[in-house]
Amino acid sequence: MLLCCLVWVCSAQAEVSDLVGGSINAERLVNAAQEPSNWLTHGLNYAEDRHSPLQKITPDNVANLGLAWYFDTNTTRGLEASPLVIDGVMYSTTSWSQVFAHNAVTGELLWHYDPQVPKAWGVNACCDVVNRGVAAWGDKVFVGTLDGRLVALDRHRGEVVWDVLTIDRARPYTITGAPRAVNGKIIIGNGGAEYGVRGYVGAYDAETGEQVWRFYTVPGDPKQPYESPTMEMAAKTWTGNRYWKVGGGGTVWDSMAYDAELNLLYVGVGNGSPWNRWVRSPDGGDNLFLSSILALNAETGEYVWHYQTTPADTWDFTATQHIILAELEIQGERRKVLMQAPKNGFFYLLDRTSGELLSADNYVPVTWASEVDMATGRPVLTDEADHFQQEQTTAPAAFGGHNWQPMAFNQQTGLVYIPAIEASQPFSTDPAFEFKPGSEWNLGQANPLGKAGAVADLPAPLLLGVMKNLMRGKLIAWDPVAGEERWRVEHPTVWNGGLLSTSSDLVFQGTGDRRLVAYRASTGERLWEVETGTGVVAPPVTYEVDGEQYIAVLAGWGGVGGLSLPQTLASNGTSRLLVYKLGGTATHPVEPIVLSLAEAPPAATGTPEQVTAGSDLFAEHCLRCHGMNVGSGGVVQDLRYINNATHQIFNQIVLEGVYSGLGMVSFAHVLDAEQADNIHHYLIEQANLTWQAQNASGWWHEFTQWLYEQTGLALGSLMAP
Ligand code: CA
Repeated sequence: MLLCCLVWVCSAQAEVSDLVGGSINAERLVNAAQEPSNWLTHGLNYAEDRHSPLQKITPDNVANLGLAWYFDTNTTRGLEASPLVIDGVMYSTTSWSQVFAHNAVTGELLWHYDPQVPKAWGVNACCDVVNRGVAAWGDKVFVGTLDGRLVALDRHRGEVVWDVLTIDRARPYTITGAPRAVNGKIIIGNGGAEYGVRGYVGAYDAETGEQVWRFYTVPGDPKQPYESPTMEMAAKTWTGNRYWKVGGGGTVWDSMAYDAELNLLYVGVGNGSPWNRWVRSPDGGDNLFLSSILALNAETGEYVWHYQTTPADTWDFTATQHIILAELEIQGERRKVLMQAPKNGFFYLLDRTSGELLSADNYVPVTWASEVDMATGRPVLTDEADHFQQEQTTAPAAFGGHNWQPMAFNQQTGLVYIPAIEASQPFSTDPAFEFKPGSEWNLGQANPLGKAGAVADLPAPLLLGVMKNLMRGKLIAWDPVAGEERWRVEHPTVWNGGLLSTSSDLVFQGTGDRRLVAYRASTGERLWEVETGTGVVAPPVTYEVDGEQYIAVLAGWGGVGGLSLPQTLASNGTSRLLVYKLGGTATHPVEPIVLSLAEAPPAATGTPEQVTAGSDLFAEHCLRCHGMNVGSGGVVQDLRYINNATHQIFNQIVLEGVYSGLGMVSFAHVLDAEQADNIHHYLIEQANLTWQAQNASGWWHEFTQWLYEQTGLALGSLMAP
């Protein structure tokens, strides 16, 4: 039997090496580990472990890592992609779903594809106009566009082969996730559950773009026939008549993995539309398949099994987080496992053949549940889980204990590296909820991000302490078998990058405070770091060409944390691709982050009532892009610093949409002139306080600047002594 396996591996290797330089097919993707010089699929391989066998860069020489080349993209928004590298060519994506192909050694731009996403569609993206990368099959690469298309491009020339619409444009669907290629089919989901959509994942023929199958994750209009017996089963777990009008949610906006032997495609399913379960499904029910891991037949899209991480989710606890497949020895038995650290704070180990729960341990502080009951597989809710009767502050926050940033699994250390977030936030119920169609969020509760504004009224030293303790970003090395943390790195910033692991005992991560760092994978010892010039949220990748190993990362601050969090100023609009090698001597500019008002803002004339009303409206409609307390992370315009010419056309921007070509659409469908004026009064007040602080002298000026650097919080929210 052993001899058989060896022979099979050898012959498979020979076949694979014959194919290198040729088109991408099932054998190459299944055997991705046998061509470690390439990065063939989103998570490196179908197991999505992001653990590269390359080992030319080691703990002993990583200090010699230097820049090989860089490329400045034509965008200022967040970059979240994992570039693919195929036979010396790198395929990366940027915000607005653009694709770039570069010579992976020299950085020469080979081609560029811009799908011309209308900028006005950006308002439908909850969490920035990002894109996480392409899939490759045959001689094509495939990209999902923010406005819902799946596009096939000739890999060598960048020309469009086909372009199909995968969504109903009457609903605010978006695509930010990377497609996956499985046996001639391209798999893609979508997002939009904050606004109100019905989630699904679909497969399209790689040659023609024709839809092969579609799997809805939640039931639709009960007056229509069910699409399948599975939907009939799921519908029994929903109550009331509202969910299907709002959409129900359950979007498949990021994670997937594939087991070729079992022919199972695993997808992570997101939160409900609306968020709040008392509003969404008032008479109870688990609301399948929200916040679930689904195993589907990859050929037909038929349901095989599911595991729901958060039954009847009401906290935006998506299970769309990175899924990793591995073989682990559990209680003396070799098991084919699936691992996920979803937003809800528990790290799950499942048997991926059956969906059986093997373990679930919290990897960050969790207050909504005391544990996961191994007998039932369900979380044991605490009293704090009930925010129907009264508001409750619970952990994790809606950002999750872990968001979309990919983890990595190192088979040698046996550790999973988690880009984790420790945070709590208030959750409530809006009993008067009414569905707002279009580009408004439908949460069924007060916007939790707006609540953070309350802490901005604290005295400055207290404020710093509170912000530092409310939310913390960390890198956790997690032992999935023991269900325990082995080591951790506390980051200065909450929102950081995804992970890369290599078999030379290294793990790489970018940070929100503009660094790329290498750690010893077994101990967490920091071995190397470099200034990236902007905050990093994307995961690094590695590849080899002509015997030289490279580390590449897209550095572009953004995503939901980049847009909304009061975090250290991370960006000046730089969004670039950085590639490092041993002995690299290239340099990139580090543009200064300049934030100052050139002239005094308009006089503050708003009454306290108008300013307060404006603050509340800002939290509801503006904050998710322009930042808490008007404190932007630099991804979009910081509204404290708009010039007086812009102040003069404020209502034309907000109500008439004169900047919709830039992505700032009209909000006339939800704001009248008086409400727009109130928001303007609030912004003018903040701008005046900013102006005063900017012109303050001596230690107070120094102190407020330092505090701003530390927290990103509005200078204007701090009162001078
Ligand atoms: Ca969500």
